[in-house]
Amino acid sequence: MKFLAFALETNRWKKINGDYRMKKYLGGCHCGKVQYEVELNLKNAISCNCSICMKRGSLLDFIPESQFKLLCGENELQDYLFNKKLIHHYFCKNCGILSFGKGIAPGGTKEVVAINLRCLEGINLKTITIKEYDGKSR
Ligand SMILES: [Zn+2]
Repeated sequence: MKFLAFALETNRWKKINGDYRMKKYLGGCHCGKVQYEVELNLKNAISCNCSICMKRGSLLDFIPESQFKLLCGENELQDYLFNKKLIHHYFCKNCGILSFGKGIAPGGTKEVVAINLRCLEGINLKTITIKEYDGKSR
């Protein structure tokens, strides 16, 4: 299964289990130039072993664009594209931290935002189920 498809499947799973309580969180880079607000259910995170996720160490969750609001730092974002150039890996030009990325959902035109959960404020990673995704062999 492709990465984004897997991510969306994970999100559907949350809904099916009736635990789809959304909460607002603030997130951003390290220096604070990039800040955003997201609405999500912190239940699962995806840990991927592909070339970039491995080096970055990010824990990801995927949400529709409508649940994401960039508060500041649009001009501080540097886009990094590689491989099939489908996912925009946005990182802060000043501190280098990637707090989110964007891509198009499989078979559609809908934009999906990948949130690096490590960049959210006031969360406890120990309460989140980590799902492994084998991006390396795809
Ligand atoms: Zn920064």
